[in-house]
Amino acid sequence: RAKEAGRGGHCFFAPEMNQKLHERRALEIDLRLALANGSFRLAYQPQIRLDTGRITGAEALLRWERPDHGNISPDQFIPLAEETGLIGQIGAWAIKEACLQASRWAEPLSIAVNVSPVQFRQAGFYDVVVSALRCSGLSPERLELEITEGVLLNDTEDTLAILGRLRQLGIKIAMDDFGTGYSSLGYLQRFPFDKIKIDRSFVRNLGQDPNAAAIVNAVMGMSRALGVRANAEGVEFKTQADLLLSQGCDEVQGYFFAKPMPSEAFAGLIGMGLPVAQS
Ligand code: C2E
Ligand code: MG
Ligand code: MG
Ligand code: MG
Repeated sequence: RAKEAGRGGHCFFAPEMNQKLHERRALEIDLRLALANGSFRLAYQPQIRLDTGRITGAEALLRWERPDHGNISPDQFIPLAEETGLIGQIGAWAIKEACLQASRWAEPLSIAVNVSPVQFRQAGFYDVVVSALRCSGLSPERLELEITEGVLLNDTEDTLAILGRLRQLGIKIAMDDFGTGYSSLGYLQRFPFDKIKIDRSFVRNLGQDPNAAAIVNAVMGMSRALGVRANAEGVEFKTQADLLLSQGCDEVQGYFFAKPMPSEAFAGLIGMGLPVAQS
């Protein structure tokens, strides 16, 4: 918005503000082009059952090589995609593509897809999911939607109703980035999540900071008591995997096991298994 200034009542943009607006506009144009040209990709990060070391599925993660900018992290472009509403189309593409790839895997592993709060609230989100399942022929039990606390912040009745309908189809619902939001734990009482994903900010300091271990231990105890599976994100070291295993964590993801990879690479991994974390 133009800044009112004293100089004879003229409006002007501060140069750096003009620059920011210009960059946002350029990013938005590139996002629209990427959608139209089909330039988004998905990377698949294996999810590993900690006690057996077997791959149970993958999380699909958006990848975008922006022309003249190289690879841009979803953390950088998803906020603008949300502001502009483009997240609806981008997210719909991601769900469809992830279901299609998973339907071709040699084993019926699970596929997790991230859903942004804005995307979730757009009219027609439920239909997007149903049509992705129908087009791909994927069994709903194999699809897991990862939501964050942001999804549960507003319109709680509507939100819970949509989540309930999705779950009735057999789709799994995971709470992503657990422990980083601002809401109370009350939602865990109101909605039966299938999985809690412990944010990697807690996993990072495991093995060094006793407080991190205490928090992970508490989350693990809670998930056990609620009967919800626990996934720990961002496992980079064997010591972290060992600690998580000893605390009864069901499932892990992280660079120690495997980085996100192209779909062909993941399809090739299926059935091979991965090294078990030894205690
Ligand atoms: P997230 O869902 O919490 O995904 C986990 C992030 O941690 C991913 O970053 C992943 O590449 C990264 N990661 C996994 N293991 C490790 C590790 O051992 N160490 C470290 N340092 N990082 C690890 P990425 O791919 O950059 O995605 C960032 C966020 O963007 C995701 O966080 C998710 O919130 C969002 N996102 C990604 N794809 C989609 C999508 O298709 N739709 C929506 N709505 N959001 C998405
Ligand atoms: Mg996620
Ligand atoms: Mg996460
Ligand atoms: Mg995240």
